[in-house]
Amino acid sequence: MKRWQKLSLVLLVVITCSQIPFAYRRYRLGRLRDVIQQLNSQRQSKPDNQFVEYKGVLHVHSFLGGHSSGNFEEIIAAAKQNQLDFVVMTEHTAANFNTAAMTLKDVHSGVLFINGNEVSAPTKERLLIFPGDEAANLPEGSSLADVLSRTKARGALALVAYPEEFKSWNAQGYDGLEVYNVYTNARKLNPLVMLFDGLWSYRSYPDLLFATFYSRPVNSLNLWDDAIRLTSRRLVATAGNDAHANVGLSLNDVAGKTWVGFKADPYERSFRLVRMHLLLPTGEALNSSSLVQAFSAGHCFIGFDLFGDSTGFRFIATNGSDQKIQGDEIASGGGATLSVRVPVSARVVLLKDGKVFSDEFGIKEKDYAVTEKGNYRVEVYLPQLPGPVSSQPWIISNPIYVK
Ligand SMILES: [Zn+2]
Repeated sequence: MKRWQKLSLVLLVVITCSQIPFAYRRYRLGRLRDVIQQLNSQRQSKPDNQFVEYKGVLHVHSFLGGHSSGNFEEIIAAAKQNQLDFVVMTEHTAANFNTAAMTLKDVHSGVLFINGNEVSAPTKERLLIFPGDEAANLPEGSSLADVLSRTKARGALALVAYPEEFKSWNAQGYDGLEVYNVYTNARKLNPLVMLFDGLWSYRSYPDLLFATFYSRPVNSLNLWDDAIRLTSRRLVATAGNDAHANVGLSLNDVAGKTWVGFKADPYERSFRLVRMHLLLPTGEALNSSSLVQAFSAGHCFIGFDLFGDSTGFRFIATNGSDQKIQGDEIASGGGATLSVRVPVSARVVLLKDGKVFSDEFGIKEKDYAVTEKGNYRVEVYLPQLPGPVSSQPWIISNPIYVK
């Protein structure tokens, strides 16, 4: 064998070996798809007479705030396709016009749109504010405290975005934080790994590629638990799709018509990954003010619905005289019972002040007797799914505050 032939052979072996992990990952995504289908067919949720559950997405950008080319038609169509009840738009602010006033609001194709903003303080700390409006017209150089006090004064909601970059945990007036953000998670990805995963798996499993990088937002969850302790306030946790529909490649003509191209993060796909599930008392209509109120009360949970529809998850507290839901406070008095209900058999982790209180597999319904005060919240996992998703949370609840 000649020298060049030997070299080529070695190269071929190296290339082949380097692709084995990606071929295996593709095989695993196929299994994941099958298990998800199975889980969704096994779902059972008990009727709830007291609350109606609405699902939607939070943290969505259009072309208005720059770095996105997404238009309203695409966003409405994607929301409809995903059968969402609401979409919270969070447009970047612009110097010369009010992006919150111009973005989607009210009901379109049966979906409620809330017009919000993503506001950046001079310290680079960012907030999601909804409804937006005035936030866009803040005087130049407004501090974080200015933004928060103006938001509160008009009864809007302020959530800390990108909590790992936030410093002012002592500030007054924020209602909670976005503990999970698809974009932040995707940025931690090795581009070479993504490229090969894409080559192997994009055509067959474009949605499930999310499973190759999704991971529990450890730092943000810790910051949340700490902020509740530090402020002694109730703080809601949300997940953000941070949908831009701006990742991809395309070849356009001068009129903007796309000849060839693909988008790795179209809205339709982004809205399928993670959703907010909101609970409104039966009989209360879903509108801008009831939505803001339910979010600020923490009457919601995060569901990574790509891995199975999380509709029907409930986390309830009773103490003999009162019944409360996630986000609420309850008096412990002679003790309280926390109840968890999940639509499929799952691993349920109950945390107290950020520390594991109980961790059990094979749970569909479970009562926990608690006597100690604290902030109790739930993470639900699906060990039935193939790794590595089996060890990442499927549902993240809001806390019940036992006082
Ligand atoms: Zn954003």
